[in-house]
Amino acid sequence: MIANQLLQKLATIYQGEEIRYPQLRAVTLAQWILESGRATSKLAKLHYNFGGIKWRREMAPFATRIAYEASDGVGYYCKFATIESFIAGYWAFLNRSPYTGWEEQVETAEEFIRFIGPIYTPTTGYVDKVLDLVPEAQNLLNSVGGELSLIAEGSLAASATDLGTIVIDPGHGGTVNLTGSSANNAISKSGVKEKKLTLDFCLTLREELLRQTASAGESIKVVLTRTTDVNLSGPDRARTAFTNRAKLFLCLHFNGLEDASIRGTETFFRAAANTNLNLQDDIAFATDVHNALFGAFKSLDARAKDRGIKPDTESGPGSLGVMNDHSLGNDQVPANKMCRSAYIEAEFITNAAVDKLIVSGPEAVPNRTKLMAAVAQAIRSHMRGMLRGVELATPHSVSV
Ligand SMILES: [Zn+2]
Repeated sequence: MIANQLLQKLATIYQGEEIRYPQLRAVTLAQWILESGRATSKLAKLHYNFGGIKWRREMAPFATRIAYEASDGVGYYCKFATIESFIAGYWAFLNRSPYTGWEEQVETAEEFIRFIGPIYTPTTGYVDKVLDLVPEAQNLLNSVGGELSLIAEGSLAASATDLGTIVIDPGHGGTVNLTGSSANNAISKSGVKEKKLTLDFCLTLREELLRQTASAGESIKVVLTRTTDVNLSGPDRARTAFTNRAKLFLCLHFNGLEDASIRGTETFFRAAANTNLNLQDDIAFATDVHNALFGAFKSLDARAKDRGIKPDTESGPGSLGVMNDHSLGNDQVPANKMCRSAYIEAEFITNAAVDKLIVSGPEAVPNRTKLMAAVAQAIRSHMRGMLRGVELATPHSVSV
């Protein structure tokens, strides 16, 4: 069975998370597969609640409360802003009194689920259903595991138009500040860290690129600089683009300001003053992704604000080193092979309306998909344009 994209995303994130009892990774994923109907339930799709987790006071650090009509009537459930917060929330849920003693039952997956299962969902046969799903969960974890999780290739049919490679860079991560990349910058009005949102948006963008290319008879290679909560330096992020011979390098961030009235979408390119070997191409790329993203914001919210496409001299630090030509390898390749870069600051998550729209509101998750679908379309169209450009630049005959 091929897992749907949301389930793959869950497995990707879970595989990258450090958990106290790694031997329980597959059985807990199996439980979430069952509880969420393979990530097709509304709770999973809208609220990243793959465990059917009801609202409890102790869940406040991980989730917000939503009213939800389940098979057993209307109740209060947890809404998680990111898959990472769902995973942390699930383990915190077990640390509540009904489950006291579970940490003495962790030697094997079966021992664990036989202990917590009947408390979690007291339905006959529940534990056996979870156990039946463990092999599927393990396969899923294996398929997204390790280095391979960074790379996803779409549609390898021989006839597919190969768009080439894009490297997508979710801003920030981890806990350590590195050259050109702090662990985190903005925090949303509802308390979600920028680094969590950048990863979620970039995974969604990857899904959209793979889905759209597959249905259009195109192929693409999508590489993420990170799929887990780790930090990489600015130069290391850029080098991922060079080592993968990427055509495009797209950084995604969110803004934050004390003045919560400020909002808007802005996209940076490497300024001539900071040296840029392919300025016009970078501007063209930045313009395409920016217009698509802003257009999608505008269609979701009439108050969306366009802050424009700008040189990185106008960014906070005055230079976004992650787009440095040397790190991208642009000083080592011919002009038509240079990697184009752009740096999106998607919105100000410190603004209450923005937070509701893309972080904490009831439509936040579907809205993220709409936004990233628009950006994916712009990327594909830009890459098709690059292919035509290469064709034009190649002479049909050589005069001697
Ligand atoms: Zn940032």
